[in-house]
Amino acid sequence: MAHINEHYLKLQAGYLFPEIARRVAEFGKTQPDADIIRLGIGDVTCPLPAAIVQAMHCAVDEMGDEDNFRGYGPEQGYPFLRQAICGAYADRGLEMDTDEIFVSDGSKCDTGNILDILSDDNVVAILDPVYPVYVDTNVMAGRTGSADANGRYAGLLYLPITAENGFVAPLPDRHVDVIYLCYPNNPTGTVVSRERLAAWVDYAREHQALILFDAAYEAYIRDDDIPHSIYEIEGAREVAIEFRSFSKDAGFTGTRCAWTVVPRVVQGRTADERRVAVHDLWARRHATRFNGVSYVVQRGAAAAFSPEGKQQIAERVQFYLGNADLLRAGLQRAGITVYGGRNAPYVWLKTPRSLSSWAFFDHLLQTCHLVGTPGSGFGASGEGYFRLSAFNHRDRIDEAVRRMAAALA
Ligand code: PLP
Repeated sequence: MAHINEHYLKLQAGYLFPEIARRVAEFGKTQPDADIIRLGIGDVTCPLPAAIVQAMHCAVDEMGDEDNFRGYGPEQGYPFLRQAICGAYADRGLEMDTDEIFVSDGSKCDTGNILDILSDDNVVAILDPVYPVYVDTNVMAGRTGSADANGRYAGLLYLPITAENGFVAPLPDRHVDVIYLCYPNNPTGTVVSRERLAAWVDYAREHQALILFDAAYEAYIRDDDIPHSIYEIEGAREVAIEFRSFSKDAGFTGTRCAWTVVPRVVQGRTADERRVAVHDLWARRHATRFNGVSYVVQRGAAAAFSPEGKQQIAERVQFYLGNADLLRAGLQRAGITVYGGRNAPYVWLKTPRSLSSWAFFDHLLQTCHLVGTPGSGFGASGEGYFRLSAFNHRDRIDEAVRRMAAALA
């Protein structure tokens, strides 16, 4: 019998979304006719932009044509897409080599896979609350001990982000080797200022640490002074890897395409203190374990950078941000304190009357027939908070706001 990777047994049993489903199902038994509005999951609702659909149609036709058919493509992505991505960085004044761009099938995979090229004995810091993938992939890779009663794994350094610190973690008071940062943030929907991000880059340079910067929600930034890329910060190229995705702006959650930037100058070290370009390890990993995103999807992704594509994506982002504005205003009218949702598609609210996150979940379900996500499900420091997603149709958002006004105010 084969031995298994026992680190998987330390994982808490995917508690959050199954528990939500269980409570909703229980509720459904008592009120089978209730019209439940789901503002829980971070999946987009708008269809693919027309410019992208058209590009994919053309690409499908090419694939069905003797002269234009393509088989395996370059693992790192077709040059046309990597050039378009570099062009988008150049528009923000950032110089990137096409060779530093790795096209993949999602940031979820990349943020997990990156651990393949990092040693087990790194000290890893994560924000709390956090996108659960960063934690679980560290557990799977054997970088942690078991979870405690609060769901915190021994061996990870948790940096609480709460209203008290403006949802930007204070710098660690000790040495860490790897830091996951996600801004605009999931789940809190908050952003980091240029100065605070610069402090993180300085910390990383001083400690020779690596920042894994997840900017999946970059398109939602509407305040001018918020950095769109960590590379806008001086010195970041030497210490940061950036993850970007077509999921949340171009609507690729089901189509699947993303990219990761690994600058050539980012270095890691061996046990005997030799320096190695992280880029070369990632290139090797990518080429060995991945065979590239499909040509059709990459053509669609490239169309995201065409003038029409940009315009159609901007309309979608505006639409979701409009939803977030409606949710924020509705909650505030009901006397609830809200955070995030200005530069992100998530609204993070403080539960009223000091209710626990799960108690508020039940209250919202019972009184408004609304489903959101308890903040405690994203980490111990999320207790007492709650996430509502702005990804939905406008009539559902309007109805959700109406119900909250009637039941919560
Ligand atoms: N990163 C963050 C912070 C997310 O919230 C999500 C999806 O919810 C992802 C990455 C996943 O991105 P992708 O669809 O590219 O895998």
